[in-house]
Amino acid sequence: PKPAAEPAANTATTVPNKAGMSEIDRKIEDLLSQMTLEEKVGQMAQITLDVVGKGENRYSSFEPFTLDTVELRKALLDYKIGSVLNTANNRARTPEQWYAIISQIQDVAMNKSRLSIPVIYGVDQIHGATYTAGGTMFPQQIGQAASRNRELVRRGAEITAYETRASSIPWNFSPVLDMGPDPRFSRQFETFGEDPYLISELGVQMIKGYEGDDNNIGHPEHVASCMKHFLGYQVPTSGKDRTPTYISDEALREYHLPSFKAAIEAGSQTIMINSGIINGVPVHSNHDILTKLLKEELGFKGLVVTDWGDIEYLHTRDKVAATMKDAIRMAINAGVDMSMIAYQYEPFCEGLVELVQEGKVKQERIDDAVRRILRVKHNLNLFEQPTTNPKDYPKFGSKEFEEAAYQMAAESITLLKNENNVLPLRKNIKVLVTGPNANSMRTLNGAWTYSWQGEKVEEFAGRYNTIVEALQNEIGASNVTFLPGVSYKMDGFYYEEFADKMEQAVAAAKKSDVIILCLGENTSTETPGNINDIYMSDLQTELARKMTQTGKPVILVLNEGRPRVISRFEQQMKGIVQIYQPGNFGGDALADVLFGDVNPSGKLPYNYPRYPNALVPFIHKPSAEQRKAEGVYNYEADYNPQYEFGHGLSYTSFKYDNLTLKENIKMGEPIQVSVRVTNTGAREGKEVVHLYSSDLYATGITPDVKRLRRFEKISLKPQESKTVSFTLTADDLSYTGRDGRKITEAGEFEIRVGDQVKKFTLLNPDAIGTN
Ligand code: BGC
Repeated sequence: PKPAAEPAANTATTVPNKAGMSEIDRKIEDLLSQMTLEEKVGQMAQITLDVVGKGENRYSSFEPFTLDTVELRKALLDYKIGSVLNTANNRARTPEQWYAIISQIQDVAMNKSRLSIPVIYGVDQIHGATYTAGGTMFPQQIGQAASRNRELVRRGAEITAYETRASSIPWNFSPVLDMGPDPRFSRQFETFGEDPYLISELGVQMIKGYEGDDNNIGHPEHVASCMKHFLGYQVPTSGKDRTPTYISDEALREYHLPSFKAAIEAGSQTIMINSGIINGVPVHSNHDILTKLLKEELGFKGLVVTDWGDIEYLHTRDKVAATMKDAIRMAINAGVDMSMIAYQYEPFCEGLVELVQEGKVKQERIDDAVRRILRVKHNLNLFEQPTTNPKDYPKFGSKEFEEAAYQMAAESITLLKNENNVLPLRKNIKVLVTGPNANSMRTLNGAWTYSWQGEKVEEFAGRYNTIVEALQNEIGASNVTFLPGVSYKMDGFYYEEFADKMEQAVAAAKKSDVIILCLGENTSTETPGNINDIYMSDLQTELARKMTQTGKPVILVLNEGRPRVISRFEQQMKGIVQIYQPGNFGGDALADVLFGDVNPSGKLPYNYPRYPNALVPFIHKPSAEQRKAEGVYNYEADYNPQYEFGHGLSYTSFKYDNLTLKENIKMGEPIQVSVRVTNTGAREGKEVVHLYSSDLYATGITPDVKRLRRFEKISLKPQESKTVSFTLTADDLSYTGRDGRKITEAGEFEIRVGDQVKKFTLLNPDAIGTN
């Protein structure tokens, strides 16, 4: 590193007119005018630091954890680094340990550095306080999406924010707002599924939960959210992480953009960029996406951070920059404000200083980036309160919080099949529990739990119940036999499995009344989670077949991060329950569903594929499906999901009638729709009322078969009826035209709610462009 530059009055800073500026903006301008170029560039860098010391590897120990002080001073004082992430060697720490680590960092930043600028610290607390030992674990986002419960999503985020601040961390790399239509992708579980409206609705709730209604992130119980990964991350051509894709501009805007647009409108102040390549251009070097679209068109005023090491990748992987320095130039000029991992692996700080001196990056671009970063730090109140102390957070890990996580797990569970009402089960029966996911806290939680790939879950989650333990609590240990049949190798790659007492499991199955077969995947994310085949594994398929051959009823429990194809044995299953990755209370919630203490109400947030080569998503054009309906074409590996988006059974039954809407509606008038829903069964239950619209003809672009426009979750007692009303606007019926502009055309539309369908005509000779 270069020696710390002598502070000099910085005449290069671009000074805006201070009249009419907010208090915070004034402070930012004052600070900026005192900063050297090196100090500014340092603010734009984010690094990770390792913990050293004797306490390592013993989470319960309270030996003081310390960062390497030489490394720390080098980072903060020589390089003037402004942000740190994921310190602590990729494993969860107690709130007290986090507090010690972050206090150490802030002490150097606030007391030893020239301008006393606090560090902004970020972590992935993505389904609860996942990097905090003792934190409350909620289902992964995919399960939260299945609950369709806005209040529970919001409550979960509030609790996560509280526990994250209890760990002294103010910035959370969440929510994932990617559209997740590809079951091959290793991170589908991190999404709210494949529908843009569903993702937007729940994304906004999560942001409000993290930041509060008024986005007052300076409140000591709120954190800054981070929308990710902008834009079009989860649809690579190969189905594999961080690989190229082609997406038309209108598809980017129509499907991928809405969730980010809604989140920006909801006030989220930070955003992380897609690590992939779209239409040949790495997103991290794409000025059209990062500056023109995000900052100018959407008016995003917050902080743009790269994903892990992505500036370096422009040179080493994506080959758009011949040197590392040129990669820095491209990314910063494209609109990146902060580089995640900028210091250990690339000469970011020196390089960027030189680029400014050479005139290749403008001073204004640097000032703009630093203003954005300092604003988030000010909004987080870090200048006044750089740390938050766990002792001020008495509700951390409380029963009240655990109850909310249990509730979310219970509402996420999705009953896919229930032949002859085999479920709920009676409690006085003997069950065999089998399968590699039956006795694992790791698979209940998924990746990003206590560590990156979830490989440390068992070390931390001992006091919660696996499926086996929860079933023992439910019906008595003597009624539950557990034999895995198949197990995951704990020291191998996540997908390695071995037969584990399979014959004993078959023998035990013959002596039990019901078999509870828990299949799925071990945990993984990102590139380590790439797969070549989405069929359920061969060994698990073999176990499923052997279980059905016993003649005993088999209930299949799916515990997976993406829907693995089960059509080789699906027909032989009497009941199928999708639990996704439900978190630490997923075992308890499942036991309550299986034995009828809870009536399931989850709905699929994606299409469950029937074949590996039949991955047409829920949002699709009519084409072959239409021809099939006309009897012209009957090739089953077309649009033919095993279970469709929105599917999910209940122990009671619901009837829909009285769908009401006007036949002719003038463009601009509210479109009022109501429907009556009645619980026609004998149990109280919750129902998700989905409203879909279909545009029957559209100019220039074939309309999607149907699109989700509204949903509402309601609760009904036996025989109770409720009328559910929705108001749509013409904007809700729009599509993105070939020029990238949204348009609503007059003409015929169809509305469908439950099994009720009605057409109406939108009257207006002139289309309304809304862009
Ligand atoms: C992931 C991001 C995550 C970041 C920091 C990256 O590899 O793609 O989602 O926020 O690491 O942990």
